[in-house]
Amino acid sequence: MLITTDGLITRSYPVGDHDRVVHLVTPEHGRLSVMVKGGQSKTNRHAAITQPFTYGNYELYHKSGEMYWLRGGSVLHSFYLLTGDLTSMALATYLCDVTSELTGEGENAEEILRLMLNTLHTISTGQKPLPLIKGAFELRAAAMAGYMPDLEGCAVCGTTYPDHAYLDVMNGSVICADCQTSFNRQRSAVDIMEANELGERRIICPMTASTLAAVRYAVLSPHKKIFSFALKDKEEELNFARVAEAYLLHHLERGFDTLDFYHSVEV
Ligand SMILES: [Zn+2]
Repeated sequence: MLITTDGLITRSYPVGDHDRVVHLVTPEHGRLSVMVKGGQSKTNRHAAITQPFTYGNYELYHKSGEMYWLRGGSVLHSFYLLTGDLTSMALATYLCDVTSELTGEGENAEEILRLMLNTLHTISTGQKPLPLIKGAFELRAAAMAGYMPDLEGCAVCGTTYPDHAYLDVMNGSVICADCQTSFNRQRSAVDIMEANELGERRIICPMTASTLAAVRYAVLSPHKKIFSFALKDKEEELNFARVAEAYLLHHLERGFDTLDFYHSVEV
């Protein structure tokens, strides 16, 4: 069966001596693993349409129960220019990995694909700090995957705008600094030991008022405006990105080699 679909190349890896498999995230068919025959050769006729960060129209051949095969296609938009900057490329590679991870074959992936395209566009303009883009993507992707945090106010006392607060990662809730302090006081050493024996972990990330505002914005803003906010300095940006990363990775229960690489080249 032949199918024609638009899609974004999110991953590419060699298979055997000559071929390549690419992950293609499509709006209607989700993530497809596509075999590119001769894909390791620079002169192969599909080279231009199978580069990572390429959004194109693809013609695929598929036999039930088997892998998709690339027949042809054309480039609609290439974000390949962002590979000129190592840190930008590392971030784009990691976020494409997250997109691949959150998209299954046969699932509708319109929403996350739209987010990823918007993200690649924003990275390539160079006009937004990378930690801000990273954090906003991670929080939004987590919410899309079903891990929507409750950010209205402190889960204990209801305070809406605390000066200092914590994100309780696994509960997906906010707790203000005052409530967290009295919670710590009330807990006895026995409580803590029991909790540890049960293997329960409470992961809490500190947030200033502006980090909390940014977390709220990233999760709740209209999709086209998701990156239209600013944090006051680099330290706030990095804290925002740390909170977002902890939130996404703990819910996905995994790390990413591409994220480790991004941190190794982060400036
Ligand atoms: Zn409170």
